This record gives sequence, C-alpha cells and structure tokens, in this order.
Amino acid sequence: MNIAVIGAGYVGLISSVCYAEIGHQVVGLDLDPDKIQKLNRFVSPIYEPGLEELLEKHITGGRLKFTDSYEEAIPMADVIVIAVGTPSQANGMADISFVEGAALSSIPYLKKQAVLVIKSTVPVGTGDHVEALIRDRISPDYGIEVVSNPEFLREGTAIYDTFHGDRIVIGANRDSAGETVRRLHEPLGIPIVMTDRRSSEMIKYASNAFLATKISFINEIANLCEMLDANVENVSEGMGLDKRIGNQFLKAGIGYGGSCFPKDTNALIQIAGNMQYDFELLRSVVKVNEKQQTGILRKAKAYYGSLQGLKFAVLGLAFKPNTDDMREAPSIRVIEQLVNEEAEVVAYDPVAMDKAPQWLHPATQYAGSWEEAIQDADGVFLLTDWEEFKQIDLRKLRSLMKRPAMFDGRNCFKLSAAESAGLDYVSVGRPAVR
Ligand code: NAD
Repeated sequence: MNIAVIGAGYVGLISSVCYAEIGHQVVGLDLDPDKIQKLNRFVSPIYEPGLEELLEKHITGGRLKFTDSYEEAIPMADVIVIAVGTPSQANGMADISFVEGAALSSIPYLKKQAVLVIKSTVPVGTGDHVEALIRDRISPDYGIEVVSNPEFLREGTAIYDTFHGDRIVIGANRDSAGETVRRLHEPLGIPIVMTDRRSSEMIKYASNAFLATKISFINEIANLCEMLDANVENVSEGMGLDKRIGNQFLKAGIGYGGSCFPKDTNALIQIAGNMQYDFELLRSVVKVNEKQQTGILRKAKAYYGSLQGLKFAVLGLAFKPNTDDMREAPSIRVIEQLVNEEAEVVAYDPVAMDKAPQWLHPATQYAGSWEEAIQDADGVFLLTDWEEFKQIDLRKLRSLMKRPAMFDGRNCFKLSAAESAGLDYVSVGRPAVR
C-alpha cells in the first residue's frame, strides 16, 4: 500500500519505518524542515534504539522518504496516518488543533477512497469531528473514510513494541475502511481488535488511565510500607504472581511522567467533566502522582534539615530509560524545587543532555558523566533507571562524594549493596539504610 504518515515525532517516525519494514511504500510528512533535512540524511531527531538503522535501510532501499509538502505526500496515498501531537490545554483537555490542521491540509490532495487514520491520542468523538470537516469540503462521491487506530508503543522499546504488541485496535464505522486498515497491519501478525470508532478512541484513554492507576496504587502502598517497616518490592512480587493482578506496572517509584500518562489522565478527567461526570478515581490517581514526584524531596529535607547551600547530583533526566524524551519528566519538578531551596544542582543523563536545558531550571549545571556529577556532592538523586546507573559501583560512588547519601526514586539497588558500600540510602517503599 501507499502510505503517508503525518507527523515525524516519536509515533509517526516509528510507524513510518515499521510500515516500510513490512513492505509498504511510505512518505513521512512533517512541517519542521529541520527534522526533514536530518531524516533524509538518516539522522533521527529523537533517540530511539534501532531507529536510525531502519531509516537508512528503507530510505536507501527506496521504500521510505520524508517531505514537508502535503502536495507531494498525499495525492498517491491509499492511507493517510495522522500521528501529530495532542498536547494538554490549560484545562487538561487534549488540544486537537494539530490533528485538525493535518486533516485540513490533506483534504485538497486526497485521492478517491482514501482512508484517513487517526493514530494520535484523541478525545472520543474526534473521528466524527474530522469526518464532518471532510464532509463539508469534499463530495461524498470521493468515499473518504476516517478510522481510529490508537498507538500503544512505549518509548525506548518502540520498534520492538510495534512488531510484538499485544493488540492492534482499529475503530471504524464502515467495514470497508476498517478492512483496509486491517490489511495494512496484517503482516505484523499481531491480534487485531476491530471495533467502532468511538470505542477505539476510548480504549486508548482507558488503557493509559488504568496503567497510571496501577502505578499510583503501588506508590500509595509503598508510602504505607515505609511507615509500617514493610518492603514494597516483596509486596509487589507477592501481589504480581496473582494472574488477576499481574506483575507489570507494580513497581513503586517516583511516579509516572512522559508525554502520555500525565496528558491522557488529565484529558480523560476533562472528557468525563464535559459530560458532567466526576471521574473521582482518576483525579486521585493524578493527585497521588504529583505527591509522589516530590516525596523524594521531603525525604531529603528530613535527612539534611535544610538543603540550602548543599550540592546535589541529579542522575537521570529523561522520564524513563532508553529515551531522550523530557516531557513531564520527574527531574523537571525535583530540580526546580532543589533550586528553590537554594541547593546547587549538577545533572547528568546518558542521552537527554541535548534536550534537557530546554526543560530544566536555568540554574542547573551539567556534567559529562555520573562520576563528574557526583564529585564532592552532598547527595545524589537518582531519577531515571538507566542501565548505566544500575551498574554503578557504590563503593566508588561513595569515595567520590563529599557526603555519601543517595535518594533513589527508582529502587535501582539492593539494600544490602548500599549497606555494604557504607552509603546512606533512601529509596521508595523500602526501609532506609543509614
Ligand atoms: P511529537 O510531538 O513527538 O511529534 C509530533 C510531530 O507532529 C512533530 O514533529 C510536529 O512537527 C508534527 N506536526 C504537528 N502538526 C503537524 C502538521 N499539521 N503537519 C505535519 N506535521 C505536524 O508527538 P508524539 O510523541 O509522536 O505523539 C503523537 C501522538 O501519539 C500524540 O497524540 C500522543 O499522545 C500519541 N502517542 C504517543 C506515544 C509516545 O510514547 N510518544 C505513545 C502512544 C501514543
């Protein structure tokens, strides 16, 4: 099939290379000329393992190209995949103006029977809205259809996830359009759920809200474990073996961040609010998460008394490992509060160093390695569970610091390892080591 993918961000880029990999002819389209120039030189504007290899393979092989021109990308496309951003508005609702923009810019160039697929995460009813935009501008003889196909990939394992996902969801109000999108994805060999468009849009929000709920739930249990001298890791293991519960998303920590969970939980609360429905449970999930992100600072203040004038290393800036995505990363809030407390902050991340300064407090200093960051530090905050940090030799760490104290928001180390290294170690939901 001939596919146009609109939006060359995390989702659009991964979709583009993966559609090419399963044999489709793909044109990726983005309005950002810098991104297009980079992509045509096989340089990815984002960090995602395996992406550059697939870019090079399919651009040189002739199955994939990138452009900033709708006129060039759309006329040949059987399927147009919209994968642009849907950021939060001030009230929490998802802003669908980029989706509208992509649809409106495509309309003059759509060929007959083209299928417009909305992959972006959009409020329930957006497909109907886009269909109405099309209906107002093109004759029904064109037979243009709008289909929902939400994305479930995880940054950091996005390519793997595309080829090994648990399900593909296709929401269509007409069988023929749903069938086209099913055939597009069939070579992936992943179970496909065919449903109506509104239910498909809801599946995406419901899935993310449920996962966020699991995270906030285990974080609440972790906070209780700290008070009751229990260990949340043992609790998670014991809970997760129950198949009705499952062991995924039961890891206590500093709370969720990233471009999806915070935005999508807030959007679903607002979607409910628009129907005069108070989604109480989800409001609490969000509140618990906000509390969790700053809990690590409360623990540090209890340890030091005051943070003023102290020097802290912050290891891990991206919202999770294997990505450079800084959107809603816990590091943003933690560093801001450390600076507000008049502490000195030296930050390091294995891949997010280029993007971090756009997001972090301007007083943040940067180091070229974890060793440099912790030099003479009064404490270290570990905020992203990069493999590089999990491999840190705690004895070496201790020897480089002025005051050997670690506040680990990701439970990266065994308590016994911290103890034998002589480190004061405060983690989440586990007894403190002093
Ligand atoms: P992103 O911000 O990384 O990328 C969006 C891209 O769209 C940008 O490159 C931007 O320049 C481009 N764009 C905006 N308007 C355009 C237009 N009119 N024409 C052409 N290009 C345009 O966003 P993302 O993280 O890839 O997310 C995209 C959507 O997928 C969002 O709705 C998001 O919620 C959803 N999603 C994201 C993830 C994830 O892990 N990032 C996972 C699942 C779903």
